Amino acid sequence: MDWSFRIGRIFGIPILIHFTFLLIIPLFAWIIASQITTTTDLIREMYEVPIDMSLITAGYMPYVLGTVVSFGLFGGVLVHELAHSVIARRNGIRINSITLLIFGGVASMEDRLPDPMVELPMALVGPLTSLVIGIICSGLVYITPAITSDLGVAGVLRFLFGYLGILNIILFAFNLLPAFPMDGGRVLRAWLAKRMPLHRATRIAADIGKGFAIIFGLIGIVSLSPLLLLIAFFIYIGASQETVAVKYSVLLQDIRVGSIMSGPVITVAPTVPVTRVIEMMYATKHLGFPVVEHDVLMGMVTVADVQRMSSIDRDAMQVRDVMTRGVIAVTPETPVVDVLRIMGGKDIGRVPVVDKDRLVGIVTRSDILKVVELKEI
Ligand SMILES: [Zn+2]
Repeated sequence: MDWSFRIGRIFGIPILIHFTFLLIIPLFAWIIASQITTTTDLIREMYEVPIDMSLITAGYMPYVLGTVVSFGLFGGVLVHELAHSVIARRNGIRINSITLLIFGGVASMEDRLPDPMVELPMALVGPLTSLVIGIICSGLVYITPAITSDLGVAGVLRFLFGYLGILNIILFAFNLLPAFPMDGGRVLRAWLAKRMPLHRATRIAADIGKGFAIIFGLIGIVSLSPLLLLIAFFIYIGASQETVAVKYSVLLQDIRVGSIMSGPVITVAPTVPVTRVIEMMYATKHLGFPVVEHDVLMGMVTVADVQRMSSIDRDAMQVRDVMTRGVIAVTPETPVVDVLRIMGGKDIGRVPVVDKDRLVGIVTRSDILKVVELKEI
């Protein structure tokens, strides 16, 4: 993911931090510090223990405590994500990285069709880990007198453990919402997928996710909470991405380039004048042609290559002066899903198909989308 940098590795998994995370730590610390008295009252009531305030409210202590709670919360999120990752790896799924974001963590897994039987335990282990952390922190609230006899220090410890206990239990509950991309959404999809095709199960879970996102967004607007709006936004985007990704993976499963590519292909020689290529683009409505010499693919010339030249230069130039060299080509055996990934990653609309260096066809984004549309019937 962009806007992230690496802070280290745990179990060989790179841990990344997203820049929004850096914004949220001081913001959280400030919010916690500014509400420290009411929060302490709440913790005191919930756990039914006395909490001495003398050290908690001393000097800059509220900000120190706010910062500690913020880091503690994200430490809990990290353990939650690691729990997902450990179960995933045990099932043979590779974990590329874990990213800490504004609203929590995301474990980036190897791209493959989700198997509901594996996904169920993998999804559940995260929230359960948060629950366990919450219970342990809550337990620690009651044994602070055994750690220290200083009333002020005991008050600080009770505040920290009590706060982290509550936050981790909220994390547990929030993640169990039956809405994509939360863990509960994955549990729901796994359950639905036993009764219907995977892409339909995904769509239902994602639609519920979008529903929650809209509700959170509306509450965010009414209560003027930018944090809630941001969470709503992330949930909405997450839900949409997952539906599209799964839809394509499911519908294009087992389809190879050879069966959908167009051919024979209109090609141009490297010595053709650029003005002639523009005429060909008008005539054929193709926005790009493979450049071929002696049956070997030399490159591609697209409308973007031509546009880079001023119209005066175009008159004097040949295809070999403007074409893109070293183009990515696929073979007839390449799975179509992989081609779609290449197109998305490199932002290209057409990929030449070669068989032992010989050009045999071309596959375009619109070819693939047509197949998806037909498969949806
Ligand atoms: Zn999770």
